[in-house]
Amino acid sequence: MLTFDEAIAVIDESIAPADQLEEVPLSECLHRTLARAVIADRPLPPFDRATMDGFAVVASDIQLGVTLPIDRTVSAGDACAVEGKSGMCVSIATGASVPDGFDAVVKHESTRFIETEVEFLIDDVKPGTAIHPMGVDANANDVLIEPNTLLKHHHIGIAAAVGATSLTVRKSIRLCVISSGDELVDGAETPKTHEIRNSNGPMLLALFESMGCVASSKMMADDQGLTKAVLEEACSANDIVVTIGGISAGKKDFVIPALDALSAHHIFKGVAMQPGKPCYVGTCQDAVVIGLPGNPVSALVCATLFGKAVLRKMMGLNATPKFSEVTLLNDVKPNPHRELFRPCVQELTGVTIPEWQGSGDLVHTTNTTGIVRIPKQVDIVASGTTVCYLPWS
Ligand code: AMP
Ligand code: MG
Repeated sequence: MLTFDEAIAVIDESIAPADQLEEVPLSECLHRTLARAVIADRPLPPFDRATMDGFAVVASDIQLGVTLPIDRTVSAGDACAVEGKSGMCVSIATGASVPDGFDAVVKHESTRFIETEVEFLIDDVKPGTAIHPMGVDANANDVLIEPNTLLKHHHIGIAAAVGATSLTVRKSIRLCVISSGDELVDGAETPKTHEIRNSNGPMLLALFESMGCVASSKMMADDQGLTKAVLEEACSANDIVVTIGGISAGKKDFVIPALDALSAHHIFKGVAMQPGKPCYVGTCQDAVVIGLPGNPVSALVCATLFGKAVLRKMMGLNATPKFSEVTLLNDVKPNPHRELFRPCVQELTGVTIPEWQGSGDLVHTTNTTGIVRIPKQVDIVASGTTVCYLPWS
């Protein structure tokens, strides 16, 4: 059975990015993967920009007690025709273009002024003070955002700053979440005592939608023929199919037999981890199938680890989850045979792991912020140990 790291490496090797591109309006680019670089159309800033409200001056004019006449006021957005020179100054606003000839801005707080004149209350103003010089952030034609960047809101801002109204991005991944189990009822129905509501379906739909997928969901009963038909249909209409439940060796676990009947190619079946031992990844028709165990914490943890890795790879991004090292703030009982993954709460000085009643206990994840990774070992992992942490998003 593969270790967790081996399973991630196999995903990285076996799954190729979806390569279709499309041009979409900037307002729809959030969570998409950039396919063509965003390039500066002009220098940034495009002019010498005042960074303070104050007075634009020739720096060498300024000494304690010097008084200069104020030629005019230059506001942000003013096209300023005046030529700056020694012996005069202009009142200037943050974001306004500093007139040629001036080489510093002295902030209001360092002056005393009356209508037409200003007295300077400081000595030794260095050239360049309070000026954000033209082209210092980027030159025209510089690449500002590289291809294969996952677009976040600040990228939208940078693209807007260089006049992009649309961007070329990878096509969104179509993904279907299939919840299986005779015990499940839809959230709108009233469950009988022995039934439960489908919580995993909406949870994982939300997870994958938050990553920019065009996601849909289905429920199916534990029936061999139905499982095959639903999988066949979902694989023909989607890039990724995520099944929940029915993946173990129980009498009513039909996902693997149905995939076999559809001649699926198995990438891996089973990972040496808790929760998530029965996890599956394979390909069927042109879709990648991710089989998750049904217990809600197992489904949540495995979707976060493997589901996101597959999706990121198909989006043209790095598949490997980015764990960081943190300090464990309470003792935890490890699993002697398999690596343990537990929902945890990131605090200022490390992470705490809340008590749980096992992988059926979704409620204990309420205040959690991510997953902590506990190596397989016999002895208790003591508070103060360095462990690896992955935020939910
Ligand atoms: P399975 O992996 O199919 O054996 O499912 C294990 C258990 O997880 C089931 O007995 C249910 O209690 C629970 N479960 C499975 N699917 C769901 C779901 N979609 N929503 C909530 N709980 C589920
Ligand atoms: Mg089941």
